Amino acid sequence: MSYGKQVVWCPKSPKRHKRFGTPAHVMQDWEVDETGEFLRVIDDSVQTDHGPHLDNIWTCMVCGADAVKKDPAAK
Ligand SMILES: [Zn+2]
Repeated sequence: MSYGKQVVWCPKSPKRHKRFGTPAHVMQDWEVDETGEFLRVIDDSVQTDHGPHLDNIWTCMVCGADAVKKDPAAK
């Protein structure tokens, strides 16, 4: 998923730090036993239910700073 334009940036180095960690909801295929008990992951990203959301925390993967977010309503 992509917003198609910059929506967050690192407060310490906006030009250089361009990778962020943030939660995404991903569907997985699991191998389970006859009771439904988890055994292992067959496919860890069958499909992405919801990509990164601006309401979640975004953390710079370079320096660990909390990302600054662009207000979606702002032009
Ligand atoms: Zn950073």
